[in-house]
Amino acid sequence: MLVNEPASPRSRRRAEIAARIPRGYRPALHLAAPTLLGAIVLAAAVRLLDAVDAVELVAVPATLLLGFAFEWWAHRSVLHRRAPLLGALCERHEREHHLAFTADDMALRSARELWLVLTPPASALLVLALLLPLAAAAGALFSPDAALLGLATAMAFFVGYEWLHLAYHLPPDGPVYRIPGLARLREHHRRHHDPRLMKRWNFNVTVPVFDLVRGTRWSPPRKGV
Ligand SMILES: [Zn+2]
Ligand SMILES: [Zn+2]
Repeated sequence: MLVNEPASPRSRRRAEIAARIPRGYRPALHLAAPTLLGAIVLAAAVRLLDAVDAVELVAVPATLLLGFAFEWWAHRSVLHRRAPLLGALCERHEREHHLAFTADDMALRSARELWLVLTPPASALLVLALLLPLAAAAGALFSPDAALLGLATAMAFFVGYEWLHLAYHLPPDGPVYRIPGLARLREHHRRHHDPRLMKRWNFNVTVPVFDLVRGTRWSPPRKGV
């Protein structure tokens, strides 16, 4: 069985965490702003493409692979370990996200709780600021089109991360779970929310590619095997 706490201390703790959400917080903006920024970067990058060669298309799967690897590493080594200078991120993730949502209580209770699920406001801008010099380097090293494809894929990956993670924290019987495969992805993340597993298992939030590569994909032992 997964860890269960008595209802009242858990509800109290959840209410305490929710009470720390800033007063003027606007959840719709928190979700719409990175989505819009991602869409603008994607559209601009595609518009700037110029006669893409087949080989340049490799930038898309290559960036996705790097995205899965980065997501795995950052979740394991920054969000669940106190990395130098980045301790606040671990604090926010373990003491807010993981305490608010446990494996047997994953769903948001209000739109304001988006604060506890999405990356901090302005993360998308920071991600773009980090990606631009990387794209410039890739443009010099490979080709401008490969760099643009990589930049577009990386921003789409970031926005996809936000939306998928949000979906996992919606009620599992909601209409979004008609999307094939989403329930399996949610289950992978739900297991990560068991406090006994969170520091060692299921670090990919989008698709568990690097959990498979690194042997950190946890699923319950099958009976009778
Ligand atoms: Zn989560
Ligand atoms: Zn985590």
